[in-house]
Amino acid sequence: MKIKIVGSAAGGGFPQWNCACRNCSGLRAGTLHAKPRTQTQIAFSPDNRVWFLIGASPDLRTQILSAPELVPKPDTPGHTPIGGVFLPSADVDAVMGLLHLREFQAYFVFATPGVQCLLKTENRIFRVLERGDSPVQWQVLSNSGRLGCHLSESPGELPTFVCNTISMGGSFPDYASEEFLRAAAPEDATLGFLFEQDGKKLLVATSLSGDNSEWQKAAVSADVTLIDGTFWADDELMRTGRTDKTAREIGHLPLSGADGLLAQFPANAKGRKILLHINNTNPILDEDSPEHRAVVEAGFEIAYDGLNISL
Ligand SMILES: [Zn+2]
Repeated sequence: MKIKIVGSAAGGGFPQWNCACRNCSGLRAGTLHAKPRTQTQIAFSPDNRVWFLIGASPDLRTQILSAPELVPKPDTPGHTPIGGVFLPSADVDAVMGLLHLREFQAYFVFATPGVQCLLKTENRIFRVLERGDSPVQWQVLSNSGRLGCHLSESPGELPTFVCNTISMGGSFPDYASEEFLRAAAPEDATLGFLFEQDGKKLLVATSLSGDNSEWQKAAVSADVTLIDGTFWADDELMRTGRTDKTAREIGHLPLSGADGLLAQFPANAKGRKILLHINNTNPILDEDSPEHRAVVEAGFEIAYDGLNISL
C-alpha cells in the first residue's frame, strides 16, 4: 500500500488567513523554523493505480494538482485515478473538498448513514455530485464494522483491502439541525479507519475525542498510525481569543498533560506513529521548540505535506 500525506494541517491551514499567533506571524515573517501546511488530506493506493482519499479537504483542488499520483491520466477509465473517498465525519474540513470533485465525475463515497443523511438532506449543495451521467455512488459504512473492498470484478476473489471502522466518540458538526441530532446515532459522527492489506495495517484517526479508548487496540496492531496532533495544550485555542472552547470541547485530545495523547498512546505499539491535523497554534510546528523536541523524543513523527509512506 502507498500512502501520501497531501495535507497535514488542521482546519484553516498553516498559516491561517485570520491568525496572527506566534506561529502564523513567524511563518509569514520568515523568522520561524517551520513548514507551511495545507489542510489535512490523506490518499492511499492499494495497487499504485487507483487512489482513495480519506476525507475531502477544502484545499483539495490545489492538493490534487500538486500530487502527480492524483492527476488525470488519459489511459485511466474516467481519467482520474481517484476511485473513492472515505469520509471520517461531516465536518466542513472533511467534506468541503467533495465540491471540488464535482465536474460530472463518478466515484464512490463511503460514509456512515448519519454523515450521509447530514450531507444529502441538510445540505442541498452536495446534490451537485449527482449530476453526472453515472453519478457519485454512496456506500454505507457501519460505525463499527468491517468492509471488504474489491478492485477486481472477478467473482470469488478476496477483497483487495479491508476497511475496519471505529467510532471515535465526538459529535456531529455544529451546523447540524436540532431535528437531525434528535434522530441521528451519535456513534455515526466521527470514524477512525483501520485499513488492512496483505497483512499490513494502517490506522487513521484524525479526530480523537478521548471519549473512548477503542483506538488504542488498533494502534497496538497497526504498522502505521496517522493520529490527531491538533493541539499541544487543552487551552491553546482559547489563548487566540477567537473561542472560549477547550481542545477537548471541540473533539481533540491534546498532546500534552497527564492524560493527553502522548501519555495515552500504548507503549507496546511497534509501528510508526505520525501526528497530523496539526493546528497552526500548535508549538510542535516550530522545529526549534521544546514541544517539537518532546514529541520527537517520544517516538512520534510530525507529518508534513508531501510525505510518502510505503507499507
Ligand atoms: Zn495561527
